Amino acid sequence: MRVIVVGSGVVGASCAYTASCLGAEVLLADAALPGQATAAGAGIVCPWASSSADDPVWYQFACAAARHYPRLVEELAGLGETDLGYGQVGGLILADSPQRQQEVSQRLLARRAAAPEIGDVTGLTGAEARALFPPLRADGAAVWLGGASRVDGRLLAQSLTRAAAGKGTVITASRAELVCRGGRAAGVLVKGVLIEADVVVAATGAWTTSFLRAAGVAVEVTPQRGQIVHLSVEPADTSRWPVVLPDASGHYLLAFGGSRVVAGATRETGAGFDCRVTPGGLSQVLGHALAVAPGLASATYRETRVGFRPMGPDILPLLGPVPGVDGLVVATGLGPDGLTLGPYAGAIAARAALGEPAGVDLTPVSPLRAARPAALSG
Ligand SMILES: Cc1cc2nc3c(=O)[nH]c(=O)nc-3n(C[C@H](O)[C@H](O)[C@H](O)COP(=O)(O)OP(=O)(O)OC[C@H]3O[C@@H](n4cnc5c(N)ncnc54)[C@H](O)[C@@H]3O)c2cc1C
Repeated sequence: MRVIVVGSGVVGASCAYTASCLGAEVLLADAALPGQATAAGAGIVCPWASSSADDPVWYQFACAAARHYPRLVEELAGLGETDLGYGQVGGLILADSPQRQQEVSQRLLARRAAAPEIGDVTGLTGAEARALFPPLRADGAAVWLGGASRVDGRLLAQSLTRAAAGKGTVITASRAELVCRGGRAAGVLVKGVLIEADVVVAATGAWTTSFLRAAGVAVEVTPQRGQIVHLSVEPADTSRWPVVLPDASGHYLLAFGGSRVVAGATRETGAGFDCRVTPGGLSQVLGHALAVAPGLASATYRETRVGFRPMGPDILPLLGPVPGVDGLVVATGLGPDGLTLGPYAGAIAARAALGEPAGVDLTPVSPLRAARPAALSG
């Protein structure tokens, strides 16, 4: 079977990799549009503490996605792909009062019965938290969550793409336009040439609405701009520093090897496809970072990345075959959680494209479903 995957962010790269492993003939096309979310994403993989965890459909999907990670990392390591920035470094959820600390611990412990991947849940004093992430303020209590991980989205997508190529996927660095005929996706136009396929997978992130226009279906995906700041705290060894999730603000900190600390991020709905770094964005991100981690005031500024989170009409993915258009699968709408959900969602999209059981009920995430009423996402 011939499959064309459009978009090589984390979702498309995972889809191409899985489809190749399942024996499909795969073409992966990406236009390298500025603002790819995967390349800008922070990389926190910790769905159990998310405000979206109150939505049972999202939570079940996210838990399955988190369980998928260690397996995928091991599989890629078997192919020689070890440079993913992945690490189960644990997480600190900052709590501004002992009562809040207890509430957070209890909520996580209650969830742990069904999700043992959550790992250790322990209350820490400010000094204990600071011993793990030295720039933190010394006065704030925290909850330690042992199962939290982080990944470098850019490296992960590149690894998946290389692994897919190793399994026979053909890569093209080009824009692809969807071509539909007689109620089915016929293929894509690349540089004016029609490339036919049995199935086209739209893993086109925030650009999905325009990509699907040729199919005559209205799938609502809008870009939410995120500005995220990278700092250097040389010569500190940051390779095991945990992710830091301040309780309410939605901002966060994490670290990778090489003394790199990442402070995120703005959530700018309505900014459109505008990839500029703005003084307002920088001030917001650095203001929140320094309020919880004043020790970062003397760090070295490295860069600011900008990406467009693909926001669907609600917090659930848009995933699976498009009803009424044969040969068309959509895999997007992962919003602020796509580095957590993306590898799993891409693998499901590949199975859906090949007509294999998805292993999960796709009805609630169908691309043309009605939006769910409450937007619970952070
Ligand atoms: C600042 C920021 C922080 C984030 N932090 C986290 C986090 O900590 N944890 C987490 O789980 N998630 C996080 N996310 C969310 C996550 O990054 C995204 O949800 C995820 O990367 C989306 O992946 P994607 O493959 O759907 O889209 P993208 O990565 O945007 O990829 C889409 C690709 O499609 C290509 N494309 C589009 N149209 C065409 C076309 N017509 N032809 C060819 N190519 C095309 C584009 O070039 C692009 O490469 C964050 C996002 C941002 C912006």
